[in-house]
Amino acid sequence: MGGRHERVLKLQHALIQQADTDHLTQLLNRGALMRRAGDALANASASAPLTLLQIDIDHFKGINDRYGHDVGDVVIRCVARVLRETGAITGRLGGEEFAVLMPGHGLAGAAVVAHRIRSQCAATAVPRQRDLQFTASIGLAEWTTGDTIDTLLKRADLALYAAKRGGRNRVAVTSPSLLTEMVG
Ligand code: GH3
Ligand code: MG
Ligand code: MG
Repeated sequence: MGGRHERVLKLQHALIQQADTDHLTQLLNRGALMRRAGDALANASASAPLTLLQIDIDHFKGINDRYGHDVGDVVIRCVARVLRETGAITGRLGGEEFAVLMPGHGLAGAAVVAHRIRSQCAATAVPRQRDLQFTASIGLAEWTTGDTIDTLLKRADLALYAAKRGGRNRVAVTSPSLLTEMVG
């Protein structure tokens, strides 16, 4: 008795989970991450900080070109593992781009995590690819009053662009001038 109902609930749960999951990495997919971000933003306040990290693998096209798409996929999974270990809300935005949402973390605390991610990526040994090393660049943006997920992502993206321009394999934060550029 009740077994059928339980099975339906379990199936429903499994289907929801599947719909929220990126199949290559098992991280949240873009849609699920956006929904989680909505909740996180609603809970952010002056006393409850929130920082978003945007991570992009460096010269990934070159990795695909040199080692093949399948090895590229392995590298994407390696990055996903590094991100999962943070214990934060992690998702794959698409391609070789990821986001990590860190409720309870201001810029300083999140930057420590970002630097750890950066160095762990650079130190990752890709299985069966002895001569392959890769790096990632990371942009950070901290929630501020009036932010939406779009403005937060936009600032993290600007920071990421600064990290790329600065030479890649680095972490960058949106400076007040970038914020002004974006608003103005
Ligand atoms: P940058 O350092 O500026 O980030 O350069 P990049 O080469 O990493 O960036 P670019 O946007 O030029 O190339 C990203 C490549 O990622 C292009 C696309 O073919 C590849 N890609 C997108 N999704 C996947 C995927 O799921 N698997 C693999 N293997 N490659 C993918
Ligand atoms: Mg990219
Ligand atoms: Mg890239």
